[in-house]
Amino acid sequence: MDLHTVTDYTVARDRVDLVTEPGTAFVGGGTWLFSEPQPHLTRLLDLTGLGWPALTADDDGIEIAATCTVEQIAALSDSGMWTAAPLFRQCASALLASWKIWKRATVGGNLCLSFPAGAMISLVAALDGTVLIWSPDGTDRRMPLADFVTGSAANALGAGEVLRSIHIPVRSLEARTAFRKIALSPLGRSGAVVIGRRDRDGTFVLTVTAATDRPYALRFDRIPGPGELGNTLRERIPVPAYLTDAHGAADWRRAVTAVLAGEICEELS
Ligand SMILES: Cc1cc2nc3c(=O)[nH]c(=O)nc-3n(C[C@H](O)[C@H](O)[C@H](O)COP(=O)(O)OP(=O)(O)OC[C@H]3O[C@@H](n4cnc5c(N)ncnc54)[C@H](O)[C@@H]3O)c2cc1C
Repeated sequence: MDLHTVTDYTVARDRVDLVTEPGTAFVGGGTWLFSEPQPHLTRLLDLTGLGWPALTADDDGIEIAATCTVEQIAALSDSGMWTAAPLFRQCASALLASWKIWKRATVGGNLCLSFPAGAMISLVAALDGTVLIWSPDGTDRRMPLADFVTGSAANALGAGEVLRSIHIPVRSLEARTAFRKIALSPLGRSGAVVIGRRDRDGTFVLTVTAATDRPYALRFDRIPGPGELGNTLRERIPVPAYLTDAHGAADWRRAVTAVLAGEICEELS
């Protein structure tokens, strides 16, 4: 779509180029920016010219550049380097997207939109990822993704701040994971995405996304039984957190979340 109010398109080459004023938006893959009118924008600042390496692995885990594409992160599943490797493609495939979006959309763009159906949010939340944010005054800050996404299409980014990268700790990469997605139609946008992660020490994390306004990570010291699981879901995820929209009603989402969570506990037991 033509963005007819935009009069300047700059490709950033260095951090000093990341200077914004009201009416400026950063461009990752542009798949959302160019998909609907943006009458409040006059300038676009493209992050892809910064040349950030998409993926960097070391003994602590992996650093994913915000500009890493969905296609690049899905390919991590082919590496077989980690027990949790299948989760990358499973989450990438949960994005309702054509091959054009798959090739262009970035992990950072998906996190910064902060839509409930953000499949990269599901992935990073399930693996206890943290995000690195660059502030316009030259300082950096890091926070868990669970704190970054604060609501439906809402996050902790301040004016002019850039999401630089995402870190996934090796502890999560070495874990066993189980993934469930449900939608109202076979190719529909996610109504609920539930992911279980069982770490090598037996601790268990259940992450609920898409069904709720923000990610919920429930932590257990072992796989819970059905009673404990049901009680924890009821206690930790308040009823108003479940969404009603075109992709599902809140009561359906709440019910299927419980069913999928039970399946995951069985699978990882
Ligand atoms: C047909 C179709 C289907 C889609 N399906 C889904 C879906 O199922 N789930 C879903 O969540 N989304 C969906 N989207 C929306 C969107 O395509 C994806 O969320 C995609 O991952 C966004 O990434 P992007 O790099 O293209 O973001 P962009 O369009 O480049 O940017 C999105 C927003 O994030 C900001 N931004 C981007 N990168 C950064 C950064 N590093 N730091 C700070 N701000 C940044 C931009 O300024 C903009 O406000 C869909 C879009 C289309 C057109």
